[in-house]
Amino acid sequence: MKSLLHVLGLMALSLPLLATAGENEGITVLMYHRVMDSPTTQFPLGETVVTTDEFQEHVNWLASNGYKTITLAQLAKLMTGTRPLPPKTVVITFDDGWADQLSVVRMLKRHKFTATFAIISNTPDRNPVYMSWFSIKQLADSGFEIATHTHTHTNKMDENQAEIEIIASKYLIESKTGKPVESLVLPYGYFNNAVNPTAKSVGISAVATVGATWCTDTENPVKADWRECLSGYAKNNIGQDTFRIRRVVVDGRCPLETFSQSVVSGNIMDDTCPARQSADNAQTSDAH
Ligand SMILES: [Zn+2]
Repeated sequence: MKSLLHVLGLMALSLPLLATAGENEGITVLMYHRVMDSPTTQFPLGETVVTTDEFQEHVNWLASNGYKTITLAQLAKLMTGTRPLPPKTVVITFDDGWADQLSVVRMLKRHKFTATFAIISNTPDRNPVYMSWFSIKQLADSGFEIATHTHTHTNKMDENQAEIEIIASKYLIESKTGKPVESLVLPYGYFNNAVNPTAKSVGISAVATVGATWCTDTENPVKADWRECLSGYAKNNIGQDTFRIRRVVVDGRCPLETFSQSVVSGNIMDDTCPARQSADNAQTSDAH
């Protein structure tokens, strides 16, 4: 009895330490879309638009707080491993291959940060708002990860469509970059179990969704409202499914403080964040 009490006492002593460690466990994956010098009426600050100044603030905060970056594929490897996840590590992802995302490369390189760019493979060289294959190859040659974001940015994939949307897209990107595509970023974060075997069969090791784990719906592959996903806790940890990697939407309306809290806690940013003063001004002047 005495020894049991002793053991329980030791456990009680160690619990606060474990709890503290737990709060910081897991890796936050940040999701960006457009990075614009000046948001527009059509593309206002929000879940899919941050300014270049904001992005600069974000990378400066990460660097000055000792953060390191890895790619989605590297995260998937760590999640299937047995070693503890490295502390103060984030994944920076960019969806859709917008050409304005190229403005971040200089900022990332300055801090030796990497990132994952998810490309819609039917867009390059067709519309100048999207990156060209030349730019995408340059990103790949610089060590950034190029993921597929499907061929047509579809939110509806059965097994047959997955052959084109995932396999053909992967091989097309690989033929242009000369590097293997190991990650799939699902458009709109729609999770769909039906595509997993197809993705796995061609060596995809990481599939990124949006938001927290309850965003995923195996019964109904296409969620009626993807915004339901934009709440909760979205860190990624060892032993979790690497085909449901959770991501935090970086909302351009939120101040740096909300961004840093999301990185540390893994909590989703949403429009309940305190308004950015400068963002308000930008949106007001845009509206007039
Ligand atoms: Zn997208």
